[in-house]
Amino acid sequence: MTAGRVSFVGAGPGAPDLLTLRAVDVLRVADVVVWARSLVDPAILEHAKVGAELVASDDRTHDDVVAIYARAAEQGLHVARVHSGDPTVYGALHEQLAACRALGLDIDIVPGVSSVSAAAAALGQELTIPDVSQTLIYTRRPTRTSMPANEQLVELARHGTTLVLFLSVRRPRELQADLLEGGYAPETPCAVVYRASWPDELVVRTPLRELAAQIKANRITTQALVLVGPALGDAACAGRSHVYDPGDGHRDRPLGRPDRYKKARSSDG
Ligand code: SAH
Repeated sequence: MTAGRVSFVGAGPGAPDLLTLRAVDVLRVADVVVWARSLVDPAILEHAKVGAELVASDDRTHDDVVAIYARAAEQGLHVARVHSGDPTVYGALHEQLAACRALGLDIDIVPGVSSVSAAAAALGQELTIPDVSQTLIYTRRPTRTSMPANEQLVELARHGTTLVLFLSVRRPRELQADLLEGGYAPETPCAVVYRASWPDELVVRTPLRELAAQIKANRITTQALVLVGPALGDAACAGRSHVYDPGDGHRDRPLGRPDRYKKARSSDG
């Protein structure tokens, strides 16, 4: 009998054609497919082999899923555990990997297209723009999951870089307050992307001072990313408007800095 195997498969942000070829290959051979119904399109199950056992994970606890892994270990089954986006980002992967290793299962991880990539594509924008932002912070606000002491949003916001928030639209007023307290100027461009790449995708662009009101007005309470920072300036405008100028996007930025940018640019040739 072959050893059981669990493949943690990234399903991408939603659109079934954003599945990777490798993900499709795994789905074709898996005996059991465990998938997260809320953020994974059922269309991906078309790739599962005939007779595969299909399990929606939404109403299952970690222990229920581990029981499936235990059965895979006993019976030499191959499980495809399908996560939204990329499984290594907010995928509750760590504890599942530990459980699989303890059961002696072989494991592998199939990378997926992150929801951040799909959100940037929906915005039609690059998230790292030379002289504007060269750093991306992925973070979240605490919920049941607390944040490490050195990762408070107010502190992360102090960098003034492009910041992407997962799982953080439920308390929009607190979110906005933290970002302002951290030093993003009220005019800093923000975008909220709900269900990127799905047919009901919604893109909301707003300055930070209206972020909470916009999240509320659009009734976005889940399945959305919030992107913040000067790189989110309106790409459709020819040139960047004054308020989105990298010299003005962050209150902590010392005056006179834009001149330094100009010098750096010319010396880059
Ligand atoms: N592993 C996933 C993230 C899972 S956590 C990834 O790589 O994208 C779930 C959170 O991800 C959601 O609350 C939301 O913040 C974000 N998310 C996942 N899919 C999304 C999508 N299609 N559009 C917008 N946000 C999404």
